[in-house]
Amino acid sequence: MAIVKKLIAANWKMNKTADEAVLFVEEFKKLVNNIKNAEIVICPPFTALQAVSNEIKGGNVDLGAQNMHFESAGAYTGEISPLMLKGIGCEYVILGHSERREIFNENDFLINKKVVAALSHSLKPILCIGENLEQRKNGKTEEALENQLKNCLKNITKNQISKINIAYEPVWAISRGNPNHKAATADDAESGHKFIRSMIAKMHGESAAKNTRIIYGGSMKPENAKELLAMPDIDGGLVGNASLDPKSFAEIVKSVRL
Ligand code: PEP
Repeated sequence: MAIVKKLIAANWKMNKTADEAVLFVEEFKKLVNNIKNAEIVICPPFTALQAVSNEIKGGNVDLGAQNMHFESAGAYTGEISPLMLKGIGCEYVILGHSERREIFNENDFLINKKVVAALSHSLKPILCIGENLEQRKNGKTEEALENQLKNCLKNITKNQISKINIAYEPVWAISRGNPNHKAATADDAESGHKFIRSMIAKMHGESAAKNTRIIYGGSMKPENAKELLAMPDIDGGLVGNASLDPKSFAEIVKSVRL
């Protein structure tokens, strides 16, 4: 594997006020301050980005946003631009999360515009793709992944692809806040990752595929993180519910073995 470090990213979704975020980071950074073998990212809600940005300065935790608009500025009420995210210290941005697709009607066409815009502002996208339960039951997993990849990565060049982190998030495995929800098995997750890597190889060649991080999301927690992160094609994790508690998220980070 050519991947240098695994990426473990927290997707807090619509949770935590700015004050709560500060309390989390104060505790969390003490738990992970000696971690060097993983890249750690926290993606709080927009309203806590500045507070988290201040708290993580000079440490080993990076900042990400959960969404953005594709334009730099303009008449887009309620939206946040890539320029604004850069200005506040974001390095990463989650794009195309299944909750944005399902609840806010985002489609591959829009997500592609966001991916292109993020890269042009030197933000590293965490591009979420994944099949839903119906697609899985009907044997359409690979077709769904292939379509999402082709559409969301349209106009992305061979030189750009490895700047994108692809998050394989089978929609049926996402906890939606239920700590007992079942993740994909390590084998099922690995086969999704393998397929995604083979698609990137088809689109951009073997070397680009090796250098592109593919991370797993969907009910990752301290109990299953080690097994998932040990799979050869799983280059990290996008963690929702289990990232809301500093101890639990730190345990997941510590599950990374190089
Ligand atoms: C997510 O929705 O990005 C996610 C990974 O959530 P959870 O870990 O709660 O399943």
